[in-house]
Amino acid sequence: MSQRELVVLGTASQVPTRHRNHNGYLLRWDGEGLLFDPGEGTQRQMLQAGVTATGITRIAVSHFHGDHCLGLPGVVQRINLDRVPHPVDAYYPASGQVFFDRLRHASVYHATADLRERPIAGPGPLEAPGAPFELSAVRLSHPVESFGYRLTEPDGVRLRPERLRELGLRGPLVGQLQRDGRVEVDGRTVLLAEVAETRPGQRFAFVMDTRLCDGVAELAEGADLLAIEATFLEADAALAEEHGHLTAAQAARVAAEAGVRRLVLTHFSQRYPDLQAHRAEAEKHFGGEVVIAEDLARIPVPPRR
Ligand SMILES: [Zn+2]
Repeated sequence: MSQRELVVLGTASQVPTRHRNHNGYLLRWDGEGLLFDPGEGTQRQMLQAGVTATGITRIAVSHFHGDHCLGLPGVVQRINLDRVPHPVDAYYPASGQVFFDRLRHASVYHATADLRERPIAGPGPLEAPGAPFELSAVRLSHPVESFGYRLTEPDGVRLRPERLRELGLRGPLVGQLQRDGRVEVDGRTVLLAEVAETRPGQRFAFVMDTRLCDGVAELAEGADLLAIEATFLEADAALAEEHGHLTAAQAARVAAEAGVRRLVLTHFSQRYPDLQAHRAEAEKHFGGEVVIAEDLARIPVPPRR
C-alpha cells in the first residue's frame, strides 16, 4: 500500500509562536520524501514527527526569506551525519544561489552525502531522476523571487472487470491484451481501449509566499491536495497585497475554481492567535474539505479517484 501524506513540521510565518514552529513540510509520496521550505527548528520537528533524514529524497525551497530556509543548515548537516545513502536533489530559485551556498556551508561538517543542487532559472518542468511523478516550478509574486511546486503523477490505465467478463477475457488472455494492446477471442479482435479506462494520476501543489497571481491558479489546477499560504484574513487584504501574501478567502476562492479536493491552509501570521476566522472565511468560498494546518499533523492525500 503506497503512502501519500503531508507531514506538517511547522505552520508559522515570519516568527514562530509558542504553538507554531516556523514553516516546514514533508510530503511522503510512495518511497519519496519531499521536504518543502525548512524553516528554523525543522530538524527537531522532524524528530517529533517521526521523519528521519534518510526519509528525505528531495528538498524544495520556494524562496529565501528566513522562515522558509533557515532550517537548511541543520537538515543538510543531518543528512551528512546520518550518511544518507541515496542522492538528495535540492531545488531553489537560481537567483538565490548565494544564499543556498551560505546555508549549505554555514558551518564545518564532514560531507558524506550526495546533495545535488538543482537551481531553478525559470518556470517549467524540473529534472527529477527516478521520481514516480513529474515535478514542475511555477513563478509566484513576492518581494523576492518565489516559485511554487507542482507534483503530477502520470495517468494510468485500469481494466474494467465487467467488460472483461462480457468479452470472455480471463487468465493469460488478459495478460496478452495488456502486453500487446490487442487479443483474439472467439475469432474477434479485442483492443485494450475497449476494456480499459484512464485512471487519473494524483496531483499535489505547494503554494508558498505569493500575492494573488496567475501562478497560484496554475499550481492549484486539479490538485488532490493543495498546501497554500493563508497568512492573512480578508480584512487585512491590503497588507497581504503589500507584503506579497494571500488571505484565507483568496486561497479558498482559487482552490474552488481549480477543483481542489483537500485544501490545507498554513503559514499564519502571529497576529492571529486563533484561526477559527481563517476556517470560516475559507469555508465560505470553498465547498471541499478545509484543513487548518497544525504543527505535527499528518494530512493524507485523498484516495485516488
Ligand atoms: Zn516570504
